[in-house]
Amino acid sequence: MLFSELASAFAEIEKRSGRLEMTGLLAGIYKKAGAKEARKITYIMQGILAPPYEGVDLGMGERFAMQAVAGSAGYSMEEVEKEAKKLGDLGLVAEAFLSRKRQHALSTREMDAGYVYDVMLRIAKASGKGSQDLKIKLLSELLNNATPLEGKFIVRYVAGQLRLGIGDPTMLDALSFSRSGDKSLRAELERAYNLCDDLGLVAETFAESPEKIREFKIELFKPIRPALAERLPTPEDIIGKIGECAVEFKFDGFRMQIHKKGSEVEIYSRKLEKITFMYPDVVEAVRKLKQGELIFEGEALAFNEGKNRFYSFQETMHRRRKYGIKKSAAEYPLYVYAFDLMYNGGDCTRLPYAERRREMEKIFPSGILKISERRMVKDTRELEAIFKESLERGLEGIMAKDLKAPYVAGARKFAWIKLKKSYGSAVDTIDATVVGYYLGKGARAEFEFGGLLAAVYNPERGKFETIAKIGSGYSEEEMKNLQEMLSEITTKEPPADLDYKIKPDFWVLPKYVVEAAFDDITLSPTHTCGMKNDKGYALRFPRMMKLRSDKDPKESTTTQEVMEMYEMMRGEK
Ligand code: ATP
Repeated sequence: MLFSELASAFAEIEKRSGRLEMTGLLAGIYKKAGAKEARKITYIMQGILAPPYEGVDLGMGERFAMQAVAGSAGYSMEEVEKEAKKLGDLGLVAEAFLSRKRQHALSTREMDAGYVYDVMLRIAKASGKGSQDLKIKLLSELLNNATPLEGKFIVRYVAGQLRLGIGDPTMLDALSFSRSGDKSLRAELERAYNLCDDLGLVAETFAESPEKIREFKIELFKPIRPALAERLPTPEDIIGKIGECAVEFKFDGFRMQIHKKGSEVEIYSRKLEKITFMYPDVVEAVRKLKQGELIFEGEALAFNEGKNRFYSFQETMHRRRKYGIKKSAAEYPLYVYAFDLMYNGGDCTRLPYAERRREMEKIFPSGILKISERRMVKDTRELEAIFKESLERGLEGIMAKDLKAPYVAGARKFAWIKLKKSYGSAVDTIDATVVGYYLGKGARAEFEFGGLLAAVYNPERGKFETIAKIGSGYSEEEMKNLQEMLSEITTKEPPADLDYKIKPDFWVLPKYVVEAAFDDITLSPTHTCGMKNDKGYALRFPRMMKLRSDKDPKESTTTQEVMEMYEMMRGEK
């Protein structure tokens, strides 16, 4: 498939945001693509080069991309920079300069989408001495062959700014439509995606044969998309929903997914990035397990020996850094509380939780690998008592687990239900993506920081939707840090995949996720979350709790969840 066809489809998608039309367009693309091509096209549409655990970062610096534009169009860097300041979008800059090229390549040829992807991969992988020059040369060559429209999307892609607003659900629908003309294959496709977190691989396998998708299996060293918990407001609601259940303490550490095959061990974060190198102590402990093949999940917590208590989430996160690993491993000894088992030589995800737990108990505890403490609970009173105990122990709350439920990869189902402590008078918290920030007034002027504009994610629409202006809850230190972090990623234009009504002083690339507490959810004309009849959902008295560096923007609380929380608070459920 020619890249020009893809670029035209992207231009169409930019013009209309209707999900059905988008699905139709993408299905048309998948129909034409060969299997290998389907994989590459999928990555391009996701704006990535490979699934996160492969650690292939696109992000060519903006300056280098501008140099390539200048070189291939025959303009000076100053001219390109000036235009970039004016337009604020590198894609538009490339399009403008390529349409008034001063210099033309001797020969141009049409490019395949697969070819463009392959060159992007070479650009990303170039490293070491002279690699910047090589990156610029490779990009210039692509741009020499590109039409202005192709150039616009190539440059956005290479700069990590191709925000087409196509959500995963739309891509899965499109794949299904491309074969069956309807959504009937979506569930199987989604299951495969949840088992490998690699939509490119799913698209390729599906293009080979839909049968293979039906038979798709868990594979070691391909992380599984994590199961997620629902929330309910009271013990009564939980017992009403799942009856007798297992209750575990909800530790506020960070989630690890661990794969083992013999002495080979990999650790993946909640975002499914490989973080093995940061935890030599955990690797060592896992190696010692007798079990040959294993995939399990646990919550990692750093322990403060002196004070005989666990460190908080923020303190535990100190362990997650690239340097001084040995030193911090000694300073912050880590425990991993295993809480689920997905593979033990055979797939465990389809087994009911009670059986998975029995299997786990044969393996853990072992050294620093513990097993989450569990109590069987029959009624509300017992559940209430454990919840109170969790708070007394300084924990976040509890997780109630449905004994009959399978491991539901990648989905928020009532297999796990969380009951959390409320913060002060706050009712609950959400995790939201920072899309902009405000300048400070009065005492805050010196920090050049006055608050955040935060958005939740709507996967069905592939869009971020604003939900709150978070103006309080910051320490001076936090204000300084946030200002520093955010001022590095400001953009002239709002993110292309954001729906908004109010504007911050500065837009930023959607990169950071924060946890915000609030008192209530109200309807407001200023926020776009779940907007209907000019009213969207908004947080009342939102305040900053902490940075969620373990979450990706697309893992923010979803619009759907906000709507459920709203109903829950109105007691309509
Ligand atoms: P929160 O914002 O409440 O921490 P979350 O958005 O990180 O939740 P959820 O899916 O709501 O994620 O809750 C599941 C998280 O709870 C897991 O990611 C895991 O890190 C943590 N957790 C702690 N203890 C347990 C446990 N015993 N079983 C399952 N998850 C646990």
